Amino acid sequence: MPELPEVEITARRLDAALRGAPIESASAPGINALKTFDPPLSALDGREITAVRRRGKHLLVHVADDLVLLVHLMSAGRLQLFDKHAGMRDRTSRLLVRIADPEHPARELRMREFGTKQAAWVKLLCEDALEDEDVLSTLGPEAWPDPPCAEHLRALLKAPRPLHTMLRDQRVITGIGRSWVDEILWTARLSPFKRGDDLSDEEAEALRDAIFSNLDGAIEHYEQVVKLPIPDKLPLPLRVHRKAGEPCPRCGATIEAVHYEDYVMCYCPEEQTGGKVLKDRRLSRLLK
Ligand SMILES: [Zn+2]
Repeated sequence: MPELPEVEITARRLDAALRGAPIESASAPGINALKTFDPPLSALDGREITAVRRRGKHLLVHVADDLVLLVHLMSAGRLQLFDKHAGMRDRTSRLLVRIADPEHPARELRMREFGTKQAAWVKLLCEDALEDEDVLSTLGPEAWPDPPCAEHLRALLKAPRPLHTMLRDQRVITGIGRSWVDEILWTARLSPFKRGDDLSDEEAEALRDAIFSNLDGAIEHYEQVVKLPIPDKLPLPLRVHRKAGEPCPRCGATIEAVHYEDYVMCYCPEEQTGGKVLKDRRLSRLLK
C-alpha cells in the first residue's frame, strides 16, 4: 500500500526527527527481512543518521560516513519511530534500530509488517554500492514532484499494454501503485484498459496533470494530518479507489470495480469507459 505520497511523508517525518541522531544498535528479528550480510548490522553501532530520503517507493536511511539502509515496505510494511522499544513478542517487527538520544531514552526506528506475508525487506549497503542495486537503477522517472511532460509520457507509455498496468510499472514511471493509479486515471477521465500507445497528446497532458495533482494533493494532506510515530494506517484521501458502489464524486454514477487476485481496480463507467461496465473476473468465476 505505501506509494509515493505515503513514503514521501514517512521520509520527511523521519528525517526531521532522526537527522544527526546516533544509533545505539540494530537488529533484524524478521527472518527474511535483512537481505545483506556484509557489512553486518553491527556496523551501524555508534554511527550517526545523516538523512532519511525517498527514491520511488523506497526509503533510504543514510548513516555516517558511508552506509545506507535501503528499505522497501512492499504492500504491508511501515517504517515508524517509537519512544518505546518493541516488545519481544511483537510479531510485526522486521528491523529495529535503537537510537541513542538522551531526550528520548527508548527511541527506536522500527520496520514493521502487517498481515501474513513477509515481503518487506531491507539492505545495509555501502553508499557507493547503492546505484548498482537493480531496484534503483531500473527505476523510471519520478512521478512527483516533476512528472514527465506529455510528450515524454507518451514515449514512456508507447506499448500495447493497459494504462492501469503501465502506470504501476516502476520501470516506466516510479512511485504509483494500486491506490493512486485509480485516482489518477479517474482524474484524467481515462479508461484503465486504454492502451498506452493509444494515448493522444491531449490525453497525455491530462494524465500528466492528474499524476501531479493527485500525488501533490495527497502529500499536502499528509503534511496536515500525519504525525510521528507514523500511524499504522495512513488516512488516504481517496475518491474512487475502494469506493465501489458509491456515487462518483464528479458525476454521481456508481463507481464500479474489477477484482483481481490481490487488488481491486475502481473506476467511473460514465466518465472513463463510455458507460461500459467491465467484467468482474472474480465474480464471473464464482458464478460459473
Ligand atoms: Zn463519474
